[in-house]
Amino acid sequence: MERGVFYRCQRCSNCCQWPGEVPLTDREVNRIADFLEMNVYDFVAKHTALRLNRGGLTLREQRGGACEFLDGIDCRIQEVKPDQCAGFPNQWNFPGWQEKCEAVPERMDHRVDD
Ligand code: SF4
Ligand code: SF4
Repeated sequence: MERGVFYRCQRCSNCCQWPGEVPLTDREVNRIADFLEMNVYDFVAKHTALRLNRGGLTLREQRGGACEFLDGIDCRIQEVKPDQCAGFPNQWNFPGWQEKCEAVPERMDHRVDD
């Protein structure tokens, strides 16, 4: 990632549409269940699945691989979306990510590491 550059999300929803796990921490499970006004047991049963490595939970997918919480191009849990969602593409990304993500680079005025 280029230093001093922040990539501003354009809400294209591409990252919500491609298949892939969205791992959940216990804190995120509690936070999302609370937001949806569900008890944790019901949320886990209805909206999560076991990760392939059996190391925890992931959000369920729609047929075709999009995240279950994608509604059109909107996230139904935007206010409490998991850290993995919030962190892309600035905190993490993958080779070739800019071919799939419409985030726009902005130069940051104040760099904390200067
Ligand atoms: S693919 Fe990039 S621009 Fe599109 S919603 Fe995800 S982070 Fe935002
Ligand atoms: S939780 Fe929201 S932001 Fe994260 S993948 Fe699902 S729809 Fe996208």
